[in-house]
Amino acid sequence: MTPWYPLLAVLAASLVCAYLRTGLRTWTIAGFVALFAAGWIAGSGWLAQAIAAVLFAAVCVPLNLPDFRRQKITAPLLKIYQKITPQLSDTERVALEAGTVGFEGELFSGKPDWKQLLAQPAPQLSIEEQAFLDGPCEELCHMINDWQITHELADLPPEMWEFLKKNKFFGMIIPKEYGGLQFSALGHSAVLQKVASLSATVVVTVGVPNSLGPAELLLHYGTKEQKDYYLPRLADGREIPCFALTGPFAGSDATSIPDYGIVCKGEYEGGNVLGVKLTFDKRYITLAPVASVIGLAFRLYDPDKLLSDVEDRGITLALLPRDTRGIEVGRRHMPLNVPFQNGPVRGKDVFVPLSQLIGGPDMAGHGWRMLVECLSVGRAISLPSNTTGGVKAGAIATGAYARMRKQFGMAIGRFEGVEEALARIGGYTYAMSALSLSTAAAVDRGEKPSVPSAIAKYHCTELAREVAKDIMDVHGGKAVQLGPNNYAGRGWQGAPIAVTVEGANIMTRSLMIFGQGAIRCHPYVLKEMQATQISDYTSRLRAFDRVLFQHVGFAISNAARSFVLGLTHAKIGSAPGDKYTKRFYRKLNRYAAALALVADTSMLTLGGKLKFKEKLSARLGDVLSNLYIGSAMLKRYEDQGRPLADQPLLAWAFHDCAWRMQNALDGVLRNFPIRPVAWLLRALVFPIGRREVPPSDRLGHRVAAILCTPGEARDRLALWSYLTPSANNPVGRMNALLPDVIAAEPVERKLQKAIKSEGIKAHDYVEQLAAAEAQGAITAEERKLLERVRAATFEFISVDDFDPRELEAATVKAKPPLRSVA
Ligand SMILES: Cc1cc2nc3c(=O)[nH]c(=O)nc-3n(C[C@H](O)[C@H](O)[C@H](O)COP(=O)(O)OP(=O)(O)OC[C@H]3O[C@@H](n4cnc5c(N)ncnc54)[C@H](O)[C@@H]3O)c2cc1C
Repeated sequence: MTPWYPLLAVLAASLVCAYLRTGLRTWTIAGFVALFAAGWIAGSGWLAQAIAAVLFAAVCVPLNLPDFRRQKITAPLLKIYQKITPQLSDTERVALEAGTVGFEGELFSGKPDWKQLLAQPAPQLSIEEQAFLDGPCEELCHMINDWQITHELADLPPEMWEFLKKNKFFGMIIPKEYGGLQFSALGHSAVLQKVASLSATVVVTVGVPNSLGPAELLLHYGTKEQKDYYLPRLADGREIPCFALTGPFAGSDATSIPDYGIVCKGEYEGGNVLGVKLTFDKRYITLAPVASVIGLAFRLYDPDKLLSDVEDRGITLALLPRDTRGIEVGRRHMPLNVPFQNGPVRGKDVFVPLSQLIGGPDMAGHGWRMLVECLSVGRAISLPSNTTGGVKAGAIATGAYARMRKQFGMAIGRFEGVEEALARIGGYTYAMSALSLSTAAAVDRGEKPSVPSAIAKYHCTELAREVAKDIMDVHGGKAVQLGPNNYAGRGWQGAPIAVTVEGANIMTRSLMIFGQGAIRCHPYVLKEMQATQISDYTSRLRAFDRVLFQHVGFAISNAARSFVLGLTHAKIGSAPGDKYTKRFYRKLNRYAAALALVADTSMLTLGGKLKFKEKLSARLGDVLSNLYIGSAMLKRYEDQGRPLADQPLLAWAFHDCAWRMQNALDGVLRNFPIRPVAWLLRALVFPIGRREVPPSDRLGHRVAAILCTPGEARDRLALWSYLTPSANNPVGRMNALLPDVIAAEPVERKLQKAIKSEGIKAHDYVEQLAAAEAQGAITAEERKLLERVRAATFEFISVDDFDPRELEAATVKAKPPLRSVA
């Protein structure tokens, strides 16, 4: 056995070096030291030592000779690499180059540097933003009557439109120099969350002008004249914008728009000027029916070469005033009874001068890059905030309702089945709050978070749909019967809207999160691709060699870390955090290493085919997403001063993340097409099997209790929700009643006991109370409390009913779809 000791020692030293991610030289020295030390201790003969040394030298010496390594190892690998790497389309290249890489890059590195995350300042609203939330935003919420908006008017009332314009709700992202509010991303997000707690229709109306559209595009690319003219008008609502990209033939595949513009001369304001004649057919365009200025994406052609020698200039963006001759706009779609303004826009041979191109003629053909660069910022804020605001209010409402609604003599929130739903509502709301907070904070740090924004968009909208379902179930018939008192039904109806817009979710998950993340966040893949583009061969080989060997070391390290952390079930390793959270950081370390290992192996073995293996890509994206969500939750917990009361929420949501990561990795390995590779990966990722479990029932019970009881964790969960107990806000009133409901519970028990033991015969509740008081079972005060709670609770468990004629729809004729003009 002794001759093997030196080699085993080298392997052990290599494992330690790989785990610690040391350099090549350190590994070489450590290997030789281990080899000789083990040989000496074990008393191996000189021959055994020499054989082991020669074997080890045969591996490490060529690697340490750069010229030899480049010519004999790297050059052939470069050839293979160039052959198997998929060619990126222009669209993909633009998408990949668009964003920046933040902490998600650390997660993809397999060994996250937690100091980077924890050093980021805690997000905080400015005094001005807080004042806006407490002032105009509170006032707006006070005005919202969602039933009137969604059922009676199918629009915001005129005075609300005026209020929004006057208070610059449409100008949150516009700088003060142009008359806007110039809010931070966090401020913007807080306003949307507050409005979303009452009305999906109003929040979409407020959100769209502040998201990807004319204002954002003009800020980044507009000419001085365009900025000076449009931005002040957009800020105070003189102009209502919309942005039209989608059409009947181009939905998810937005780059395939058939809408076109031909560069030509035409009549404009009495002169004959150079411009573009546009033909387009767009649909689903939010705010289009009321827009005064339409942002339009189309493909620009210059057949007469009036601008340059290039005929097909590519996707270009223009601003079209509504009254431009030839535009057909004003009809409406009906998005799932959440009637924000949304409709088609069409035009045939609509002429606009070149000055209407966003950024002027210089930006002709750069439209796709402009859209993709701006998309990440808008996507990081709008939908994550809208959905988070909605579920926060939903969590508060459902917790309060589950405490006051009694069946079988008990608050329904005490039944284990209901507790399960409440736990999901609480845990997901906690996760979504952290996720939307972290993407807003990334934007405020100046990042263009393309990968996190896709993660936030996908997971916030998916989780919101889950939460909406649970809210409905816990409320039962109360949420089914629509009417002014139903605060849950519209959220449930509208949940698929958020899932569909800004990159429909199936595509976002299957194609974008991992597809972009793997290349953008991977520490070496993009660098390798860039190295292969270098025209000079010697420089190309040098650059490729450097990155390739860093990459190889990285892959070995990830394999070692994944194995060691898997073997110990992530019980070891340095990690920040307190006694409570250290284990969570360690788990993230483990899954980060596993993701890096499996992602690398997938890219290496499947090459370009991985792009079409959407199910694998989606699952790898799930791991990256849950790593990101887990870190966002830990950061939030740290930023809030590690509040003890939040621990059940954090733990529930974290165990759910870990469970999802494990299942996603298991799914990848089960379905990996090259089976021997899958077996090897399984041994490295799950050396002792799958040990994660979903959040326990006990934890779920604690989360449910948080939702049903006033307290600091519940208040923090509801941050920025509109909970004022005003006439238009049943959730606020129900929440305000909760302390009384709880105070009434022991009295209610005394009453029930008295009814049973004292033989109170009355059937009527009021008479029962009177009898119980007369017998001294309850005091006069207690009787008043029960009366008050009973009356107030009745209001919240009641549903609306209507005169049959009130429910008859007005005569509505949907116009059959036009034949597409584009
Ligand atoms: C209410 C509403 C408001 C909107 N507002 C605007 C707006 O203001 N401006 C604007 O320009 N657009 C807007 N849109 C368009 C929206 O942003 C989406 O881009 C569009 O709805 C997606 O196209 P589609 O609905 O035709 O779905 P399709 O593209 O037909 O997709 C159908 C399904 O196939 C999936 N899918 C497609 N390709 C892939 C793939 N490669 N891999 C996996 N799955 C795939 C999608 O995820 C989806 O689930 C709006 C849409 C709606 C419904």
